This record gives sequence, structure tokens and C-alpha cells, in this order.
Amino acid sequence: MLMEIRKMKRACREQWEAMIDLAEGRAESNTASSHLSTCAECQARFADLKRMFSAMSIPRYQTPAELKLSAKGLMPKREPASPIRMRLIHSSWGLSGARSTGQDFQAIFGHESAEVRMMYTLTEDGWEVTGRLPDAHWQAFREGSSLPTDTEGRFYFLIQNLADSGITLVGPTERLAIPAGSIALEEESDGSSERL
Ligand SMILES: [Zn+2]
Repeated sequence: MLMEIRKMKRACREQWEAMIDLAEGRAESNTASSHLSTCAECQARFADLKRMFSAMSIPRYQTPAELKLSAKGLMPKREPASPIRMRLIHSSWGLSGARSTGQDFQAIFGHESAEVRMMYTLTEDGWEVTGRLPDAHWQAFREGSSLPTDTEGRFYFLIQNLADSGITLVGPTERLAIPAGSIALEEESDGSSERL
């Protein structure tokens, strides 16, 4: 709706710039305000503008409590279980060429607002799985327990079966269900995952 400025009625288009200022809280405009009170289309556009500006003004490193408040009142509600994208990367290809697929690979999981790169390495002791939280407000959980992280937000665990490597990342306003590394490998053999 925001982008269809050319399709607006002339009376609306004339108030558009003033409405942007109004929504941003930069300037008052009596003509824009009175147009708003009579035009349902502009009321909807204005609500979109307000949402957009409030989403833009939220600093990246707000505390979770503050973020929660802004999310409640101002931001469009984020779906807790957003569909996740994944991209598989064979880190051992190219350079060494010696290892076969599945012994050492990385996958990136995420969506627009958060992304995590997971690394899977087969060792004599099992699969070493490492990753890093999107930022300090996130936590990683595996089988109901929180995974310890270092000061940089990196976490690590060792498992025998790659199919058990699924974890959940919980952020201030959403959670990411990271599927097991084996799922990322399967998706790729289906041709549905992009390889770098
Ligand atoms: Zn209008």
C-alpha cells in the first residue's frame, strides 16, 4: 500500500509528504491531520507508516524488557515460528577435497531478522556441533536445557547421531527451531537447498 503513491487520489497524494512527517513525529500539519480524519485510505497508510517508523527506531541492542514493550505496543506482531530458510555449505570441498560429504559441513539457518551458522564435524568421539547466537539477547536450548555459551555467544555440543542435532534458539521476540544437520543434508539431496 505504501508504495502505490501514483495510484493515490490527488487529495491524498498532496498530503503524502506531510503525513510522512506527521507519522515520523517530525512536524505537525493541520491540513494533513484534517485530511486524515476524513480519509479511510490515508488512515490505513498512516497506520502503516507509524508501524514502519516505530520498527525502524528500535535500536538493535535494546534490553529484552524494553524490546518487549515496544513489540507489544508498536511493532507488527512477529510470528513466533517463522518459516526457516536453510543453506548448506560444504566447508571441506575445494580446499582439501579429501573428505567426503557429510563429514564436515556448515549450514546457515534463519530468516530476515535472525540467522545462525552451524558447523558440523565428525570426529572420533562423535559429531561436534558449534554455532553462534545472533546476539547477546538470544539463548540456545537443546532437549529442554540451555546450552552454555562463551562470551562471544558461541555454543558447542557433542552428539553421536547427527539426527539429534536439532536445537531451539530463543530471542527477545521470536524463536528459531533449527532442524538437525541431517535434515539440511537431506534437503540438499532433494535439490531444494542452495549450495555456495
Ligand atoms: Zn487520503
